[in-house]
Amino acid sequence: METKDLYKVLGVDKGASQDEIRHAYRRLARKYHPDANREDPKAEERFKEVQHAYEILSNPQKRREYDEGPRAFFGAGAPPGAGGGRVDANFSDLSDLFGNFGDIFGGAGRGQPQSARGEDVTVSVNLKFKDALEGVTTRIAAPVERVCERCSGTGAAQGTARRMCPECSGRGIRSRDQGFFAFSEPCRRCGGEGTIVEVPCAGCAGNGRLRKNRQVTVKIPAGAKDGMKIRVPGRGSAGRKGGPAGDLYVVTQVAEHPLFERSGDDFLVDVPVSFVEAALGAEIEAPRPGGGTVKLRLPAGTQDGKRFKVRGAGAPRARRNGEPGDLVVRVGVVVPKKLTRREREILEALAEERNEDVREGLLRAAGEAEV
Ligand SMILES: [Zn+2]
Ligand SMILES: [Zn+2]
Repeated sequence: METKDLYKVLGVDKGASQDEIRHAYRRLARKYHPDANREDPKAEERFKEVQHAYEILSNPQKRREYDEGPRAFFGAGAPPGAGGGRVDANFSDLSDLFGNFGDIFGGAGRGQPQSARGEDVTVSVNLKFKDALEGVTTRIAAPVERVCERCSGTGAAQGTARRMCPECSGRGIRSRDQGFFAFSEPCRRCGGEGTIVEVPCAGCAGNGRLRKNRQVTVKIPAGAKDGMKIRVPGRGSAGRKGGPAGDLYVVTQVAEHPLFERSGDDFLVDVPVSFVEAALGAEIEAPRPGGGTVKLRLPAGTQDGKRFKVRGAGAPRARRNGEPGDLVVRVGVVVPKKLTRREREILEALAEERNEDVREGLLRAAGEAEV
């Protein structure tokens, strides 16, 4: 870092005035500040370079030494960062800088109350099969953080107030040594707020918020699926220091039906048919998930496991204003376990009439298959 031209780091001329240097520094520090560049690990390095350049060039004495040559500045033979040329951050300028950051980053400045949005909270709701299908309005208890009424969220006991953090003198930031220069980070004592609670509120133990169950009325749309996420805006945890509340997410857990298997907006139901119905064709009735039945025409020669789609007899589309889903009827051919004598005679006559070998093709294919 020390090999870089400090003027170039700040993008100013060698003859730049203190005002120009200060202006360039503030612009670049904002641009490369780690808080604004969380995705870019190089930004912190640039930020440190800029900070370092400003520390030297903003100090007339150090700037003169730097202009005279790096050797003169660092001291003969002392490698950079080895303690020979330690420079401390110019705190008055840094705090000024962070004060301005408050305007940019939503009040996250020194000694300013840090408002923060409340957390999103997710709760699950158990639904009966029928309620999910038809839609229902239900009340649920959501465990959310709420502002403590006793201290109005300050966390300080009644009759007391928060006081300035002694660790950071209310600035909310602390400097951390990093070899050659000092770097700033949020104060750990006060969490960057700049104030601390001296006598904690008995209601919330100084937290300012309390976990409580909030009764929320939620409208479950007709056709709600299992695992559906319903957002209730602003009903999550309360914000801090006047920040907005988070959202509540209600996740549906729909009870299974013993007969209907759901797939998307469609339902599948197994319907038995006799082998005679399958062979001759028939009109059959199938149950609907919402109650009642639906009729459908089975063609002659229907095979076992064949599926028939009954349009619109599935679930209402919960999300879109579209057509409801379908009901898929899967037929299962039932073979009689016992036959009367007469039935046996009829079937034997049928076998004679058909005189067929249904496995013929299979056995031939097995013989010819090259495996
Ligand atoms: Zn502090
Ligand atoms: Zn309290």
